[in-house]
Amino acid sequence: LLNYQGKSRDVMTLAHELGHGVHQVLASQQGHLMADTPLTLAETASVFGEMLTFQTLLKSKSSPQERNIMLASKVEDMLNTVVRQIAFHEFETIVHDQRRHGELTPEAIGDVWMSVQERSLGPAIKLERNYASFWSYIPHFIHSPFYVYAYAFGDCLVNSLYAVYEESNEGFAENYIEMLRAGGTLRHKELLQPFNLDASDSTFWAKGLSLIENFIDQLDDGK
Ligand SMILES: [Zn+2]
Repeated sequence: LLNYQGKSRDVMTLAHELGHGVHQVLASQQGHLMADTPLTLAETASVFGEMLTFQTLLKSKSSPQERNIMLASKVEDMLNTVVRQIAFHEFETIVHDQRRHGELTPEAIGDVWMSVQERSLGPAIKLERNYASFWSYIPHFIHSPFYVYAYAFGDCLVNSLYAVYEESNEGFAENYIEMLRAGGTLRHKELLQPFNLDASDSTFWAKGLSLIENFIDQLDDGK
């Protein structure tokens, strides 16, 4: 749902939802049962559409202040999606491992939460002890354990895909449309193969993370 008020965030949301629309229209040829995308690809077209729009808007801004505001909020979103969700995943892994050896008190869970959060945020952020119970506000931990990785996976996938598009966009659009057309009939391994991307290879993730790094560098340069 979008309340369009002409803000740049609204433009991004519109691009995001249109991405879902394009994906669903293309995948509809697979029929009702196979059109639905796998979880790993569910946010691909939407986030990719958002990224294209973001880059176009960014290029159209000449004032350094406007560019910095756009870059800063993008970097914040990306760090939230990648670093924070992976920290969530690590928290779940440790808690589930410990639970195998016996019941855990809320304090013990809080200790794991604090140590993982402290590590993921680094020394610049000081967490107070009252943050120890904040794991309990994440519904995924209870209702869909280990789902959180999908956000980071989806974001990194799009970043890597975008990096390929920037390197050489020859034939990219054709491959991209084919990928969306596949709907739920193929897994990410087959879908990404035409782009020479492979999520089981660490360079795939490095490519995605380098895009975030590049935004942070642009932000540094724009001071
Ligand atoms: Zn979405």
